[in-house]
Amino acid sequence: MGITEGNVLFTTVDNIVSWGRRSALWPMTFGLACCAIEMIAAGCSRYDTDRFGIIFRPSPRQSDVMIIAGTMTKKMAPAIKRLYAQMPEPKWVIAMGGCASAGGPFNTYSVVQGADLVVPVDVYIPGCPPRPEALMYGFLQLQEKIRREMPSVFAKIKA
Ligand code: SF4
Repeated sequence: MGITEGNVLFTTVDNIVSWGRRSALWPMTFGLACCAIEMIAAGCSRYDTDRFGIIFRPSPRQSDVMIIAGTMTKKMAPAIKRLYAQMPEPKWVIAMGGCASAGGPFNTYSVVQGADLVVPVDVYIPGCPPRPEALMYGFLQLQEKIRREMPSVFAKIKA
């Protein structure tokens, strides 16, 4: 792999595919509680996540990111597990807010005390609720994680 003058780029198909994946993260459209309002705001025109290639999809089969936006009840957990299973690989999970990360203020019999007890979480976002900027920062962290996981020519460009 390498770069020559004149904007010619040599890389592998794997690297190009991975670059495309982190540049086009498609979250599933669903929310669980109040944090979902901030998630919706992030997708609207003021914050406009589309410019990062983050485009909400209506089906788990078209999505590669699950945002756990809100309080996960034990009653809801099996449905979330099923939705996660319906997403194609590779897939990632963002726990948005205190409830999704660790149960938040609801240390009760009916609330799951952290989404990682149900699905594997890649990025945690603190706050109650986190603002849309925090969610966007979470996506940037996820992109960075995906970039670090691949031995890429783009990593060499950044270095
Ligand atoms: S973290 Fe706060 S804002 Fe988010 S779902 Fe829990 S209670 Fe609601």
